[in-house]
Amino acid sequence: MTVTRFAPSPTGRLHVGNIRTALHNWMLAQQAGGRFLLRIDDTDAARSREDYVDAIRADLDWLGIAIDGEERQSQRLHHYERAFEQLRASGRIYPAYESAQELELKRKVALGRGLPPIYDRAALSLTDEQRAAKEAEGIAPHWRFRLDHAEPIAWEDGVRGAQKFDPAQLSDPVIRRADGSWLYMLPSAVDDIEMGVTQVLRGEDHVSNTAVQIQMFTALGAQPPRFAHKALLVGREGKLSKRLGSLGCDAFRERGIEPEAIVALLARLGTSLPVEPIADRDALLDTFDLSTFGRAPAKFDEEELERLNAAIVHQFDYDRVADRLPEGMTEAGWHAIRPNLSHVAEVGEWWRIVTGPVEQPSLEAEDRAYLAEAARLLRDGEAFASDNPWATLTGALKTVTGRKGKALFLPLRQALTGMDHGPDMAELLPLIGRDRAEERLREAAKGG
Ligand code: GLU
Repeated sequence: MTVTRFAPSPTGRLHVGNIRTALHNWMLAQQAGGRFLLRIDDTDAARSREDYVDAIRADLDWLGIAIDGEERQSQRLHHYERAFEQLRASGRIYPAYESAQELELKRKVALGRGLPPIYDRAALSLTDEQRAAKEAEGIAPHWRFRLDHAEPIAWEDGVRGAQKFDPAQLSDPVIRRADGSWLYMLPSAVDDIEMGVTQVLRGEDHVSNTAVQIQMFTALGAQPPRFAHKALLVGREGKLSKRLGSLGCDAFRERGIEPEAIVALLARLGTSLPVEPIADRDALLDTFDLSTFGRAPAKFDEEELERLNAAIVHQFDYDRVADRLPEGMTEAGWHAIRPNLSHVAEVGEWWRIVTGPVEQPSLEAEDRAYLAEAARLLRDGEAFASDNPWATLTGALKTVTGRKGKALFLPLRQALTGMDHGPDMAELLPLIGRDRAEERLREAAKGG
């Protein structure tokens, strides 16, 4: 059974990059009929906040990303402790006593010599007496995971293909601080093992963590999951922008962006599939495929999101939006107006065209006479007895006045809606209704 997870740290709101990772992991699980877990990475007690946990849940809910289970690292500390003891007993974890300043100095020296700043493992060669002396001085150790340098670390990455790391080129990672608190690396591997995670899809900033974690899985006697690392999201200008880091569901909601638009965009951004206004999740799931993911950074373009949003709003059924529509607005009203919307919230402005009052245009005498004729035809003619009052009315006016094209249609639209453009008049006129329409034409004929 496929199990994926989304593992945010509740130290802030989800941004568009996190949302994309959550979505892709959810899609992987959905596609395989598997499980998608939300794992709250809250081992950093000082920076984690409960309101962020709530916000993460609310955002996923709003996006329609349903979780099949939730886990919290802060409640699993005894699991990490157990793994720690196991790895310590097998010699894969060792204490280190360098201060942050000492480590920084080592880094600088290495860089100054043109060497990569890899931890020199000085702590590994301390004797028992030297360690005892450090502790007698009151220095509590932090803990490092000892990488096995014997063979390269290799995996077949779901996006990047064959990956190979020389472990000697990596520092033994610090996994636990001197105060006993955990860093990200080991708890995540323990959780992935114990939660049966089969597939880890995350950003390519985690590639070297994966190399380390693969050794942790093996050291703990577990089979590593399949890994895939996707290129990061960048702004339109091609940089990792600050703006993207602060763009989340709240901002989208405020701007009237529908969750379907975000999902349609993020599901395909950075893949070889075209970004299209697909509101149907199943259709997106059908085509979702890690092998379509490219290596180049995925460009997030807010204008593209706006365009998708409009196209998706144009597809929405009445039921999808009914609770957001002005009172009295019917299904026919929604259908007439939706092609004009970029955001659902604009519907009220357009609906006023139907309910009135509309602002009358000031027209030339010739057009006013034409509108008086139109009002008369509307009253005495057959328009509203026909299937298509607009076609019947304009057909009759064409015959009577000889007008055509813009001269035929525009003054009518202006008088009936107060605007030069807008919804299809054939749909609009029955909604405005005969009496209101006649009155508007008469008003315009009088000159407003
Ligand atoms: N909490 C980690 C992060 O947000 C999770 C990384 C992972 O997917 O393993 O970067």
